[in-house]
Amino acid sequence: TDIQALLLSRIREVEDYPEPGVKFKDITPLLADPAAFGALTDALADIAVRTGATKIVGLEARGFILGAPAAVRAGIGFVPVRKAGKLPGATLSQAYDLEYGSAEIEVHAEDLAPEDRVLVVDDVLATGGTAEASVQLVRRAGAEVAGLAVLMELAFLRGRARLEPALAGAPLTAL
Ligand code: IMP
Repeated sequence: TDIQALLLSRIREVEDYPEPGVKFKDITPLLADPAAFGALTDALADIAVRTGATKIVGLEARGFILGAPAAVRAGIGFVPVRKAGKLPGATLSQAYDLEYGSAEIEVHAEDLAPEDRVLVVDDVLATGGTAEASVQLVRRAGAEVAGLAVLMELAFLRGRARLEPALAGAPLTAL
Protein backbone atom coordinates (compact mmCIF):
# COMPACT_ATOMS: atom_id res chain seq x y z
CA THR A 1 0.00 0.00 0.00
CA ASP A 2 0.95 3.68 -0.14
CA ILE A 3 1.46 3.74 3.62
CA GLN A 4 3.78 0.71 3.56
CA ALA A 5 5.82 2.34 0.79
CA LEU A 6 6.01 5.59 2.77
CA LEU A 7 7.11 3.81 5.96
CA LEU A 8 9.68 1.67 4.13
CA SER A 9 11.13 4.73 2.39
CA ARG A 10 11.84 6.31 5.79
CA ILE A 11 13.79 3.39 7.28
CA ARG A 12 17.53 3.70 6.86
CA GLU A 13 19.78 0.64 6.60
CA VAL A 14 23.11 1.03 8.37
CA GLU A 15 25.74 -1.53 7.37
CA ASP A 16 27.92 -3.21 10.02
CA TYR A 17 26.06 -1.74 13.01
CA PRO A 18 26.23 -2.51 15.91
CA GLU A 19 28.72 -5.13 14.68
CA PRO A 20 30.21 -6.34 11.39
CA GLY A 21 27.76 -8.22 9.16
CA VAL A 22 24.61 -6.69 10.66
CA LYS A 23 22.40 -4.37 8.60
CA PHE A 24 20.71 -2.22 11.25
CA LYS A 25 17.27 -0.80 10.51
CA ASP A 26 17.30 2.80 11.72
CA ILE A 27 13.87 4.38 12.22
CA THR A 28 15.05 7.91 13.06
CA PRO A 29 14.30 9.27 9.53
CA LEU A 30 10.72 8.02 9.95
CA LEU A 31 10.38 9.76 13.33
CA ALA A 32 11.66 13.00 11.82
CA ASP A 33 8.99 12.94 9.07
CA PRO A 34 5.60 14.01 10.49
CA ALA A 35 3.63 12.41 7.62
CA ALA A 36 5.31 9.03 8.12
CA PHE A 37 5.29 9.14 11.94
CA GLY A 38 1.63 10.26 11.85
CA ALA A 39 0.64 7.44 9.49
CA LEU A 40 2.45 4.90 11.66
CA THR A 41 0.77 6.26 14.81
CA ASP A 42 -2.66 6.06 13.14
CA ALA A 43 -2.01 2.49 11.96
CA LEU A 44 -0.91 1.32 15.43
CA ALA A 45 -3.87 3.06 17.10
CA ASP A 46 -6.17 1.38 14.58
CA ILE A 47 -4.79 -2.07 15.49
CA ALA A 48 -5.28 -1.27 19.19
CA VAL A 49 -8.91 -0.32 18.60
CA ARG A 50 -9.61 -3.30 16.31
CA THR A 51 -8.11 -5.81 18.78
CA GLY A 52 -10.07 -4.31 21.67
CA ALA A 53 -6.88 -3.39 23.54
CA THR A 54 -7.22 -1.49 26.82
CA LYS A 55 -3.45 -0.88 27.17
CA ILE A 56 -0.42 -0.61 24.93
CA VAL A 57 2.77 -2.13 26.34
CA GLY A 58 5.82 -0.54 24.70
CA LEU A 59 9.26 -2.20 24.75
CA GLU A 60 12.31 -0.12 25.70
CA ALA A 61 13.36 2.00 23.99
CA ARG A 62 11.88 2.46 20.52
CA GLY A 63 8.64 0.74 21.54
CA PHE A 64 8.13 3.73 23.86
CA ILE A 65 8.45 6.20 20.98
CA LEU A 66 5.98 4.30 18.77
CA GLY A 67 3.62 2.98 21.43
CA ALA A 68 2.99 6.09 23.51
CA PRO A 69 1.44 8.34 20.82
CA ALA A 70 -0.61 5.39 19.50
CA ALA A 71 -2.02 4.80 23.00
CA VAL A 72 -3.00 8.47 23.31
CA ARG A 73 -4.63 8.39 19.87
CA ALA A 74 -6.53 5.19 20.71
CA GLY A 75 -7.63 6.65 24.05
CA ILE A 76 -6.03 3.87 26.12
CA GLY A 77 -3.19 3.68 28.66
CA PHE A 78 0.51 3.11 28.03
CA VAL A 79 2.71 0.78 30.09
CA PRO A 80 6.49 0.61 29.63
CA VAL A 81 8.40 -2.69 29.70
CA ARG A 82 11.91 -1.76 30.74
CA LYS A 83 15.31 -3.34 31.01
CA ALA A 84 15.94 -4.69 34.52
CA GLY A 85 16.66 -2.19 37.27
CA LYS A 86 14.97 0.91 35.80
CA LEU A 87 11.49 0.79 37.34
CA PRO A 88 11.13 2.10 40.91
CA GLY A 89 8.06 0.15 42.06
CA ALA A 90 7.20 -3.51 42.60
CA THR A 91 8.02 -5.35 39.38
CA LEU A 92 7.55 -8.66 37.65
CA SER A 93 10.63 -9.68 35.68
CA GLN A 94 11.29 -12.09 32.86
CA ALA A 95 14.69 -13.37 31.73
CA TYR A 96 15.38 -14.48 28.17
CA ASP A 97 18.32 -15.80 26.18
CA LEU A 98 20.36 -13.71 23.77
CA GLU A 99 22.85 -15.02 21.22
CA TYR A 100 25.51 -14.56 23.90
CA GLY A 101 24.27 -14.46 27.50
CA SER A 102 20.85 -13.36 28.65
CA ALA A 103 18.74 -10.28 29.33
CA GLU A 104 15.95 -9.38 31.71
CA ILE A 105 12.93 -7.12 31.30
CA GLU A 106 10.49 -5.78 33.87
CA VAL A 107 7.05 -4.23 34.22
CA HIS A 108 5.29 -2.56 37.13
CA ALA A 109 2.89 -5.26 38.32
CA GLU A 110 0.20 -2.80 39.35
CA ASP A 111 0.03 -1.13 35.91
CA LEU A 112 -1.62 -4.22 34.39
CA ALA A 113 -4.89 -5.63 35.70
CA PRO A 114 -6.67 -8.94 34.96
CA GLU A 115 -9.33 -7.09 32.94
CA ASP A 116 -6.69 -5.54 30.65
CA ARG A 117 -6.24 -6.60 27.03
CA VAL A 118 -2.73 -5.66 25.93
CA LEU A 119 -1.29 -4.77 22.54
CA VAL A 120 2.51 -5.16 22.69
CA VAL A 121 4.36 -2.66 20.45
CA ASP A 122 7.98 -2.53 19.26
CA ASP A 123 9.87 -1.21 16.25
CA VAL A 124 11.63 -4.31 14.93
CA LEU A 125 10.87 -8.01 15.35
CA ALA A 126 14.13 -9.91 14.86
CA THR A 127 14.54 -13.36 16.52
CA GLY A 128 11.40 -12.77 18.58
CA GLY A 129 13.12 -13.27 21.94
CA THR A 130 12.26 -9.82 23.29
CA ALA A 131 8.63 -10.02 22.16
CA GLU A 132 8.24 -13.54 23.51
CA ALA A 133 9.50 -12.51 26.96
CA SER A 134 7.17 -9.48 26.90
CA VAL A 135 4.13 -11.58 26.06
CA GLN A 136 5.03 -13.93 28.91
CA LEU A 137 5.38 -10.95 31.25
CA VAL A 138 1.95 -9.59 30.30
CA ARG A 139 0.35 -12.97 30.98
CA ARG A 140 2.17 -13.35 34.31
CA ALA A 141 0.81 -9.93 35.30
CA GLY A 142 -2.63 -11.50 34.83
CA ALA A 143 -3.62 -9.57 31.72
CA GLU A 144 -4.71 -10.90 28.34
CA VAL A 145 -2.59 -10.49 25.17
CA ALA A 146 -4.64 -8.77 22.44
CA GLY A 147 -1.79 -8.89 19.94
CA LEU A 148 1.71 -7.84 18.94
CA ALA A 149 2.34 -5.00 16.50
CA VAL A 150 5.70 -4.01 15.05
CA LEU A 151 6.79 -1.57 12.40
CA MET A 152 9.06 -4.11 10.74
CA GLU A 153 9.56 -7.87 10.82
CA LEU A 154 12.91 -9.33 9.76
CA ALA A 155 11.26 -12.44 8.31
CA PHE A 156 14.54 -14.27 7.59
CA LEU A 157 15.12 -14.60 11.36
CA ARG A 158 11.84 -16.51 11.77
CA GLY A 159 10.60 -14.65 14.84
CA ARG A 160 7.00 -15.20 13.79
CA ALA A 161 7.29 -18.99 14.05
CA ARG A 162 9.06 -18.74 17.40
CA LEU A 163 6.29 -16.50 18.75
CA GLU A 164 3.38 -18.69 17.67
CA PRO A 165 3.10 -20.73 20.91
CA ALA A 166 3.43 -17.64 23.13
CA LEU A 167 0.87 -15.63 21.14
CA ALA A 168 -1.64 -18.51 21.29
CA GLY A 169 -3.72 -17.16 18.41
CA ALA A 170 -3.35 -13.45 19.17
CA PRO A 171 -2.53 -11.58 15.95
CA LEU A 172 1.00 -10.46 15.01
CA THR A 173 0.91 -7.46 12.67
CA ALA A 174 4.03 -6.14 10.91
CA LEU A 175 3.21 -2.83 9.28
P1 IMP B 1 14.77 -9.85 18.98
O1 IMP B 1 14.57 -10.05 20.46
O2 IMP B 1 15.90 -10.65 18.43
O3 IMP B 1 13.48 -10.03 18.21
O4 IMP B 1 15.24 -8.35 18.78
C1 IMP B 1 14.30 -7.34 18.83
C2 IMP B 1 14.78 -6.20 19.66
O5 IMP B 1 16.04 -5.75 19.20
C3 IMP B 1 13.79 -5.05 19.53
O6 IMP B 1 13.59 -4.43 20.79
C4 IMP B 1 14.44 -4.12 18.53
O7 IMP B 1 14.27 -2.77 18.89
C5 IMP B 1 15.92 -4.52 18.54
N1 IMP B 1 16.44 -4.66 17.17
C6 IMP B 1 16.92 -5.77 16.58
N2 IMP B 1 17.34 -5.52 15.33
C7 IMP B 1 17.11 -4.23 15.11
C8 IMP B 1 17.32 -3.34 13.99
O8 IMP B 1 17.80 -3.70 12.90
N3 IMP B 1 16.90 -2.06 14.16
C9 IMP B 1 16.35 -1.61 15.31
N4 IMP B 1 16.16 -2.40 16.37
C10 IMP B 1 16.53 -3.68 16.27
